[in-house]
Amino acid sequence: MNGKINSNKSAKFIYYTCFLTLQMSEPNLNIGKGEMQRGSIHCGELEDGTSVTIPYFVMRGIRKKPVLLLNAALHGEELNGIEVINRIFETINPLELKGTIIGVPVVNTLAFRARSRVDPIDGKDLNRVFPGKKDGTITERVAYTFFNKFVKRADFGIDLHTGMKGHLLIPHPRVRTYKDFSPSLEYSRALGTEIIFYHEGSKGMLTIEAGKIGIPVVCFEIGEAGRLDEYFIDAGMKGVINFMKYFGILDGEPEIPEKQILLKNYKEVVSQYGGLFYPKVKAGEVAKKNQFIGIIKSPFTGEKHYVRAFTDCLIIGVRSQPVVRAGTSVAWIMTFEEGNILPSLQNKNLLKLPSKMVSITKEKGIELKE
Ligand SMILES: [Zn+2]
Repeated sequence: MNGKINSNKSAKFIYYTCFLTLQMSEPNLNIGKGEMQRGSIHCGELEDGTSVTIPYFVMRGIRKKPVLLLNAALHGEELNGIEVINRIFETINPLELKGTIIGVPVVNTLAFRARSRVDPIDGKDLNRVFPGKKDGTITERVAYTFFNKFVKRADFGIDLHTGMKGHLLIPHPRVRTYKDFSPSLEYSRALGTEIIFYHEGSKGMLTIEAGKIGIPVVCFEIGEAGRLDEYFIDAGMKGVINFMKYFGILDGEPEIPEKQILLKNYKEVVSQYGGLFYPKVKAGEVAKKNQFIGIIKSPFTGEKHYVRAFTDCLIIGVRSQPVVRAGTSVAWIMTFEEGNILPSLQNKNLLKLPSKMVSITKEKGIELKE
């Protein structure tokens, strides 16, 4: 939705994959300047004796601190973040890095293997069981190992996710609140997206449980499960690099829009008919009340039903799998009633980029509070 994504990939695709060793041990943050480590850590055993592991990379720059944790695939079918982490390790020169990065491309290897959100045998959602249990089920043990050996050793982190299958989400950080826990917005804003979502979370989510012990972890949603999509991978790269620049791990100015919009509480647009859904909007577009969102057409009678926006809204997600029943969600929207334009991030000498979303929203005659 930000139009052009500038990832500088043509010039920078140099492979810095001269890893020191492949170790079955916890990450070593005491490696030398400019060194990289690749390894795997044991979490528990399967029925046939196979070890369940968490594979990781470590890259140490010219300074040791801060330590940034990048992880993906807490949900095994969410692939874009896996590629983002691999590209970060392929493209960043450790000698340009002021800090250490720990990269965990796939936390939930069991679910990844099963092409599934969760491990189908255990059935537990890894992102609902943090900080995990040492003697729990295999998913709880993975959570325990990840939380204690990776999260607790980081100063902050980015937790990469996507929408579920058939549920494509625009790139955005999702700020999770829980009871009296409400994280600082600065970490989410440092990704540089125009839209930031404020959303009540659940107990056991990584961002909430890490935040409660003072380690800010940002949930960053990029795209749709089950797919590798260049647009969302680029958006993920851009967000991670912005974050690293903002916190001084990389040199350079982060590209952060002067105006970022904070939206709260998404709503679903539900089909009232069965058939095939033909979307007429894209994720990231602004829609006025009564605007067409799509058509549901019966493949047997040709009868058409028009789906309209029931309010002024931002389309944050559109169904990408066309077969729907009555009751299937076809779009996910956020309304502007609770939308606020955030004040520009201060004292960081940021580039003043125009905010496309603010201008489109105003063009459509939708009010945003400043
Ligand atoms: Zn997820």
